Amino acid sequence: MPVKDELTSEQKLIADTFEEYCRTRITPNQERWISERKFPRSVMKDLSEMVFGAMLGEGSEKMDEVTLGLISELMGKYEFPVPAFLTMHFAKLLPFIEDRETRSGYIERYLNGDLVICGAFTEPGHGSDSSSITTTADLQGKEFAVNGEKAFVSSPGNADVFVASVRTAKTAEDKQYAGISLLLVDVTAKGVETYETENMASVFKGDFGGIRFSNVAVPAGNIIGEMNRGFHLLMKILNVQRVHVALYSIGLAEASLDDAISYARIRKTFGRPISKRQAVAFRLAEDWTRIEASRLLAFKALRMQDNGEENSAQCASVKWYGCESAFNTVSDCLQTFGAAGYVKSSPIERRFRAARGFLIGDGTPDIQKLIISRKLFGRENAPQ
Ligand SMILES: Cc1cc2nc3c(=O)[nH]c(=O)nc-3n(C[C@H](O)[C@H](O)[C@H](O)COP(=O)(O)OP(=O)(O)OC[C@H]3O[C@@H](n4cnc5c(N)ncnc54)[C@H](O)[C@@H]3O)c2cc1C
Repeated sequence: MPVKDELTSEQKLIADTFEEYCRTRITPNQERWISERKFPRSVMKDLSEMVFGAMLGEGSEKMDEVTLGLISELMGKYEFPVPAFLTMHFAKLLPFIEDRETRSGYIERYLNGDLVICGAFTEPGHGSDSSSITTTADLQGKEFAVNGEKAFVSSPGNADVFVASVRTAKTAEDKQYAGISLLLVDVTAKGVETYETENMASVFKGDFGGIRFSNVAVPAGNIIGEMNRGFHLLMKILNVQRVHVALYSIGLAEASLDDAISYARIRKTFGRPISKRQAVAFRLAEDWTRIEASRLLAFKALRMQDNGEENSAQCASVKWYGCESAFNTVSDCLQTFGAAGYVKSSPIERRFRAARGFLIGDGTPDIQKLIISRKLFGRENAPQ
C-alpha cells in the first residue's frame, strides 16, 4: 500500500476493511474455487455491498481513484477472481449508455451484483492497433446488426454482457473520430457465440476466449457514448484502467515477496538460512525497491486522475514499469523457493503465470512506451 500517512482516515478504513474481507472470505475459499474451475459469482454480491455503489457514486459519495487503487492492489494480493475485478472497472462505462431507461436497467443489475461485464476489443487480426477493427454494426431503424469476431478476451464464458468496439462509420465525416462506437451486447442475444481459448493462466472455465457475432440485433439504446466517437471514450477509460491492472499485478508481486521473505528465513542450505546469502537477500531487496517505486508511480497517476490532470504518460509508465517489475519480482520469488516454487501446488507458480499475462493484456509495454514518446516528442515526431 502507499505510504499510509498520505491516505485519509477514510481511505485507510476502506482498505483495512477490504483486506479483512479478503483474508476471511477469499483466501479460505481460493483453493476450492480453483480446483472447481468455476467463477464464484458470490463475490459479485459481496462487491455490490462494499464497492459497486460507491464506485459509480450511486447512493453515496463517489469513490476516488486512489481508494479504488487500494482495492485493485488488494485484489491482486489476494488473487481476487479476475472477472469480478474487470467488471468493477468496465462498469465505469455504464453511466455513458445513451438511452436513459436502458442505462438504469443495466446499472441496477450491476449494483445488485447481477452483471458480469467483459470488454471485447481485440480481434484475431487487430490487437495493439485497436482502431483498425473490422467488426461492424450497421444501424437499421432501431437496431444495430453486428457482425464480426473478437478474440483473446478475458472472461467471455462468465460474462452477462460484452462492451464491444464496433465500426459504425459510413462517411468521411464519421471517420473523423476513428468511426468506432461502443455497444453493450447481451451474451444471450441471438447470433452471439462464445468460445474458449485456454491460456497459460486460465483459472476458471470460460476465463479467456473469443466471441463471434453473426447478424446480432442490438437495440440502438445500447450504444455507450456518442455514435462514431466510442474509441475516444474507450481510450479515456482504459487510460486509468491500466493503472488498476498494474496495481493488481503489483499485488501479486507483494504477496509473492511476503511468501519468499518468510521462506528465505527458514530454508537452510549449507547450515544457514538462505536469507543470510547475499545473492538471495539482495535479489529480493532489489525487487522490493522496484515494487515500491511502481506503487509510487501508480498512486501518483491516480492522484492526478482525481485532480483532473492530464496523466496519459504517467498511466502508461505504470502499466509497463509496474507490470514488468511485478512479473520479474514474482519470477525471483519463485527462484527463491527453488523447485518448491515450480510445482503446480505453489501459489507463486500461479501468480507467475498471471503476472505474465498482465504484461500483454490492456496494452503491451511497447505500446505504453509509444504513448510516453508521444508525450515527450509530440505525436508527429514520435515513433508510430
Ligand atoms: C491475459 C490477457 C488478457 C486479455 N484480456 C483482454 C480483454 O479482456 N479484452 C480484449 O479486448 N483483449 C484482451 N486481451 C488482448 C490484448 O489486449 C492484446 O493481446 C494486446 O493488445 C496486444 O495485441 P496482440 O496480441 O494482437 O499483439 P500485436 O498487436 O500483434 O503485437 C505483437 C507484438 O508487437 C509489438 N508491437 C505492436 N505494435 C507495435 C508498435 N507500433 N511499436 C512497437 N511494438 C509494437 C507488441 O508490443 C507485441 O510485442 C488480453 C490479452 C491477454 C494476454
